[in-house]
Amino acid sequence: MPHTARQILVTSALPYANGQIHIGHLVEYIQTDVWVRYLKLNQHEVYYVGADDTHGTPIMLRAEKEGITPKELITRVWGEHKRDFDAFGISFDNFYTTDSPENQELSNEIYLNLQKNGLIAEREIEQYYDPEKEMFLSDRFIKGECPKCHTPDQYGDSCEHCGATYAPTDLIKPYSALSGATPIRKKSLHYFFKLSDERCESFLRDWVQGLAQVEATNKMREWLGEGAEHKLSDWDISRDAPYFGFEIPNAPGKYFYVWLDAPVGYYASFKNLCAAKNLNFNDWVKADSTTEQYHFIGKDILYFHTLFWPAMLKFSGLRTPTNVFAHGFLTVDGAKMSKSRGTFITADSYIQTGMNPEWLRYYFAAKLNASMEDLDLNFNDFIARTNSDLVGKYVNIASRAAGFLVKRFEGRVLDSAMNVELLQTLRAAQSNIGALYEARESGKAMRAIMELADQVNVFIDSNKPWDLAKDPAKTDELHAVCSVCVEAFRILSVYLSPVMPNTAAKAYAFLNIGAQNWDDVHTPLQSANAINAYSHMMTRVEDKQIDALIAANKTEEAAPVAIAAPTKAAPAAAESNIIGIDDFVKVDLRIAKIVDCQAVEGSTKLLQLTLDVGEATTRNVFSGIAAAYKPEDLIGKLTVMVANLAPRKMKFGISEGMVLCASGNDDGLYLLEPNAGAQAGMRIS
Ligand SMILES: [Zn+2]
Repeated sequence: MPHTARQILVTSALPYANGQIHIGHLVEYIQTDVWVRYLKLNQHEVYYVGADDTHGTPIMLRAEKEGITPKELITRVWGEHKRDFDAFGISFDNFYTTDSPENQELSNEIYLNLQKNGLIAEREIEQYYDPEKEMFLSDRFIKGECPKCHTPDQYGDSCEHCGATYAPTDLIKPYSALSGATPIRKKSLHYFFKLSDERCESFLRDWVQGLAQVEATNKMREWLGEGAEHKLSDWDISRDAPYFGFEIPNAPGKYFYVWLDAPVGYYASFKNLCAAKNLNFNDWVKADSTTEQYHFIGKDILYFHTLFWPAMLKFSGLRTPTNVFAHGFLTVDGAKMSKSRGTFITADSYIQTGMNPEWLRYYFAAKLNASMEDLDLNFNDFIARTNSDLVGKYVNIASRAAGFLVKRFEGRVLDSAMNVELLQTLRAAQSNIGALYEARESGKAMRAIMELADQVNVFIDSNKPWDLAKDPAKTDELHAVCSVCVEAFRILSVYLSPVMPNTAAKAYAFLNIGAQNWDDVHTPLQSANAINAYSHMMTRVEDKQIDALIAANKTEEAAPVAIAAPTKAAPAAAESNIIGIDDFVKVDLRIAKIVDCQAVEGSTKLLQLTLDVGEATTRNVFSGIAAAYKPEDLIGKLTVMVANLAPRKMKFGISEGMVLCASGNDDGLYLLEPNAGAQAGMRIS
């Protein structure tokens, strides 16, 4: 087959350097890696690069909290990330950092070119400022009382209690989450990328036509608006000192916002690789480059990759991405990943539990498609599918045939059996399976491969090699059947190799052949090359391993602290407002007797309640009702509490539940009280 090698640059989103890699991240890295491995098996020139995203306020504050420098922090986290990617077989050609000289140089160059093109604006804006920490505060670092439900200690953008979203200026009695100081309003000069410029808009309207995913195109159209609507606003790309990042050229004390230099980090990582491999970086990034460039991302950062990034590239004179591929979020057993349920599973804990990374690679590949749909890791399904497909269907083919071949035929296949109909069927599936991989329909590819494995198992069951082995007259038949099996196993191994590279490598070692390319499915095993004795290739997943994994990840729900993970790192399932009865019964509502109530020293909002909910010990609950009730008035009263809320660490201690209050448009808060006859501990349904 004539083969034109394509030149392809592929990236995965950059993990933020303040936390561990978890299975939510792995969805994307596995998806990208499978795609890259498939293209490499087709002998294209493919480079897969990544980097840690290292800049921004959360990194600065985290380092400060740990008493180390930001550079020390990002160096340590880089090592952890690299370890996890290696363990899961993520085959980056280069995994680098955005805190690199290449990135600073490229970010400056892009910025200065945008400025030369008249696309950088300077504007004074007013923001909250922490007079004690002497820094401007982003929404996540301002807390206060929710303007809607009056729950204290809510973030500047949304209320965790009632779910309301608002501007930080709406918060009642705002305070800095960093120092507790009351923030003041302060003006500062900011730099903006003029995305609202007509040139950007018309370029993006055109560029959107080429996007592969219809959901992405629709989102883009929504952002761009219809016809003459101008919906894009300018993008604030600067932050004031103190900030961990790159200082903007000719603007002392002003730094690039982390989202400006993060995508440039793709190029910086690649540039670093080009130097090591002696490639011409410019050929790949110049405006008229004939190379291909793809970005795999989560759907939550589509905005950055389909608006800002292509526009930045276009108007700084560089090539634009060939395509952006977004995937959905991961849920575990149907719910958002949760630390209290032990489903916020880190990559490292998975490895430490002794689980095979290729089980997860296979499971994710089997569930992924080219859309942005969310996907669910259901542990029962994970166990059933991995054991049935990988051990029951695939590995079994080798284990059922190899013994006879080695013992009776010196491990040599029967050459004349290498073209039977079954093997022709298997080889003929190559182009279809390849097309599915290329189209990122790995779920369909896995189904197609398992259907072939089913056919091979039917062949074994109907030919019964164990019976043939008992009859000396059927030696040739036994030889043929076992030869077909090991050749079928070889072909299936090639098909699965983008997903399970280690298992495939073990299979090739067993078959005594070298690494196989995609087209090698057409080159059968030969009798001249004896296979090795079969050795164990893959174990089954056991229930107790899943139990251990969940136990290892079960921690008290992280206390709400100022250093929140940025949204790009936190997978979240889309949630609808309507719930079913199943959701409602998850909330354990109970009658609670207020056996004691105290003012909280140092807080004007909170009361500390001691509640009897019919358990052996009482519960301690902090509630923001000090403005509405005197402690002594509540003692002895009955109320309603949420008894199964994850314990929450607050400044004054751990709150073990929540009491329910009504509130309206006035400032009043009204604690719920049951009708006479209700007793402490009664369930509410
Ligand atoms: Zn609220």
